[in-house]
Amino acid sequence: MNLHNFPSEIRPFLLPKPQGNLVYQCLECGTEYPIEEFLYTCPKCQNIFMLPDKEFERLKEIDGKIWRQIFNYRKMLNIPALKGIFLFHEFIAPIIPLEDIVYLGEGHTSIVKANQYLQELVGCRFYFKNDGQNPSASFKDRGMACALSYVNYLIHTKGLKEVLAICASTGDTSASAALYASYLRGKVKSAVLLPQGKVTAQQMAQPLGHGAYVFEIPGVFDDCMKVVETLADNYHVVLLNSKNPWRIKGQQSYSYEIAQWFDYDLKNKVIIVPIGNAGNITAIINGFLNFYKVGIIETLPKIIGVQSIHANPVYRYYLEPDPKKRVWQPVKVKPSCAQAAMIGNPVSMPRVISSVEEYNKLAGKKQVFVVEVTEQAIMDWMLIANRNGHFACTQGGESLAGLVQALKEGIVNSEEEVILDSTAHMLKFISFQQMYFEDKFPPEYEVSPREELKNTPQLVRPSDITYFPDEKILGPEEFKEFITKTARTIADWLNLKKK
Ligand SMILES: *Cc1c(COP(=O)(O)O)cnc(C)c1O
Ligand SMILES: [Zn+2]
Repeated sequence: MNLHNFPSEIRPFLLPKPQGNLVYQCLECGTEYPIEEFLYTCPKCQNIFMLPDKEFERLKEIDGKIWRQIFNYRKMLNIPALKGIFLFHEFIAPIIPLEDIVYLGEGHTSIVKANQYLQELVGCRFYFKNDGQNPSASFKDRGMACALSYVNYLIHTKGLKEVLAICASTGDTSASAALYASYLRGKVKSAVLLPQGKVTAQQMAQPLGHGAYVFEIPGVFDDCMKVVETLADNYHVVLLNSKNPWRIKGQQSYSYEIAQWFDYDLKNKVIIVPIGNAGNITAIINGFLNFYKVGIIETLPKIIGVQSIHANPVYRYYLEPDPKKRVWQPVKVKPSCAQAAMIGNPVSMPRVISSVEEYNKLAGKKQVFVVEVTEQAIMDWMLIANRNGHFACTQGGESLAGLVQALKEGIVNSEEEVILDSTAHMLKFISFQQMYFEDKFPPEYEVSPREELKNTPQLVRPSDITYFPDEKILGPEEFKEFITKTARTIADWLNLKKK
């Protein structure tokens, strides 16, 4: 739709201009630093940053009702920079001019209601928000679109040459980083560090395919992270891990989209999200906080983080009800099917602690919860979801297992409506389904396949057939015999009635 066709009171706001004043703000000592440099930890105290907009108050000058209209009308524009997460430009990274925004089709992923059977089985109304429909097939693209748009902007304003972007990854961050960097070919190169043997073949194929330098480290994600941090501290590189607060900014779009999808009415809504490095839950909390503060939403929805018992430091931390007595303690992870969340020392934990506190305070009650689920539940619920029209990855299965657990604990009641984050596409983690179906899970995963959830292909090779096409070129009679008997065998198997 053309600009002049929009209502005149909305028109001036449709194409956002660079605005706001973002600063790196240390979570520990509060010191602020300008964003003109790549900076990831406070030079004074080594803590991580948030990226607040010092002029956030200006956004309150526009009524919440007008903001809703701005976003709804903006959605009709066919301007690539505003088609993805930057539809919510003012609430993401408003200093970036539209011409520097990198848009590869991320964001605005579908929200699909569970069918009747699944809702009854689980015991409440729920949806999957399919973040596996992002370009590199995980939600990481939301953050990467923002981080790389910012890098692109700095390259242009500062005349930088050949930036090297680097990250450690449980698989999806590197896939996304490599994709976005490859789009900025000539300006940005990417290098990724992966824990050897702990990413799926599909996740490994992605950075390789996008031309990144790929390094395998004999260790787990937490070890890769330490190496990357050392590189970022000592060399000129751009760090693309979620330590980078620009990624958190981009991932806030997840909350904005949920708000818009439900017409900004989030009463009785619950969001469930798996926690690994805790960047995503931080972003989701802060996204809802921003919309709430400006009056775009009137309710802060309940947020539930989920962790596997094999990688549960955040769950353990919140087990202690008294905030003053809580002690942060990283854990040593065990093998997990929710491999992308298999993190024992989440980088964003300080962000989680401060964001959860603010969220609960503004909500006037405890509104953020963390539950723990077994590896068995993650696998079983993923398979059940996918047998009912979804395409959840193991972490999406973790979200659903988390819902079942939350219902059991009374954290969610049947009046509420739940949105589950399906963080990646099922095909990325298909090796776990395969191990389940073939009964090949190593014992340390603690998963035993349930017979009724297994599925394997049947070889159709009836013994009364003389020749098969893989043995020789069949004559007309032989071919007819092969087709008829094969068809009959399948029909018998399926118990088909003859016409
Ligand atoms: C990264 C990732 C997670 C964990 O998100 P965090 O922000 O690290 O907590 C969960 N699922 C998938 C598919 C991921 O790629
Ligand atoms: Zn500091």
